[in-house]
Amino acid sequence: MYPNDSLTHWHSGQGHWSDIPAEQWHDWKWQLKNRITKLEQLETYLELTPDERAGCLFAKDKLALAITPYFFNLIDPKDPNDPVRRQVVPSAGEMKTAPEELLDPVGEENTKPVDGIVHRYPDRVLFLVTDRCAAYCRYCTRSRLVSNAQDYNFHPEFESGLEYIRTHPEIRDVLLSGGDPLLLSDKKLDYLLGELRKIPHVEFIRIGSRIPVFLPQRITPELCEIFKKHGPIWLSIHVNHPNECSHELRDACERLSFAGVPIGNQSVLLKAVNDDAATMKSLIHRLLMMRVRPYYLYQCDLITGSAHLRADARIGIEIIKSLRGHTTGYAIPQFVIDAPGGGGKIPINPEYIQAVTDSEIIMRNFQGEEYRYPLIDTAAQALDKSAPELEPILM
Ligand SMILES: *Cc1c(COP(=O)(O)O)cnc(C)c1O
Repeated sequence: MYPNDSLTHWHSGQGHWSDIPAEQWHDWKWQLKNRITKLEQLETYLELTPDERAGCLFAKDKLALAITPYFFNLIDPKDPNDPVRRQVVPSAGEMKTAPEELLDPVGEENTKPVDGIVHRYPDRVLFLVTDRCAAYCRYCTRSRLVSNAQDYNFHPEFESGLEYIRTHPEIRDVLLSGGDPLLLSDKKLDYLLGELRKIPHVEFIRIGSRIPVFLPQRITPELCEIFKKHGPIWLSIHVNHPNECSHELRDACERLSFAGVPIGNQSVLLKAVNDDAATMKSLIHRLLMMRVRPYYLYQCDLITGSAHLRADARIGIEIIKSLRGHTTGYAIPQFVIDAPGGGGKIPINPEYIQAVTDSEIIMRNFQGEEYRYPLIDTAAQALDKSAPELEPILM
């Protein structure tokens, strides 16, 4: 059925949980209830490094430890630098704060008209609907408020958020995020999406979620029906490494796609996870095979305790350069830096433009060869404008 059924490296089945009936393993509530959340639990499954042990002890004050059994099985236990492990197993690097790091790295608190709403761009809002996730990414940009480890006291309120959107007709695009919105019950999601759909000026609804990656079992036929009912609902998932492209993720994406949900992917450039061209290329090819369009590649935000996971932004530019022209255009994400302090996402591109003169644009192609394209002569254009206007055809 699939052209490349070797889509996953790590199809380890139930691993440590092989004595659990398959029915339970495939039940998302079982997966949530049996998450690894404590150092002692993690140590029974994985030989931790001293750095990781220290990180786990620190995690409860910074960002809780949580890994679903399904996602844990994507880790190669023999590899202390496993790319999946680096994303979810705490390490001592989290205990250090580099001078450039911030608790609110992209200045969300400065553009918050009501609790849970971030209104930075003129026509769209970010609506934070929960502070919980199925598992916690150690570089989380919202570690200040998710998992309840710090004193943020996040009490997202649907009603005040919805009312803000209802009373601001300029909002045509709503992005549900959190925490992970897909941890809400079907009933709550149905209500939220239904209320948003009733607002005439809301044209575009999307959800940012890592649930298909951490907990693909949550993508049930019932949930897909809700998306279908309120569609089009767009989804941005978060896959960083090809090893996350499992059969389970592939099947979840298929269920979503067949329910009419267009899926994009947002990756974060992470040191020793995906900061090389070969890994990124393999990832984006696998995403296309799952009907997922790579959307953004983010430079890692300057979140407190993330220095050990941040790659140099120049590597991101080099990766994009190695992709453009060398592989399918659909596969190439836009590399962005979410500007520290709240400037929004800024696209960062390799330099293809050499010069723009009065008469032409001088550029280089993906092989470094120079090309020229003429610009429209502005003097001639002015002459054109002074010519008598033509009678409009329909008047
Ligand atoms: C990322 C983001 C959006 C969505 O931006 P797009 O470029 O449209 O994907 C909206 N609001 C906030 C605050 C964001 O951070």
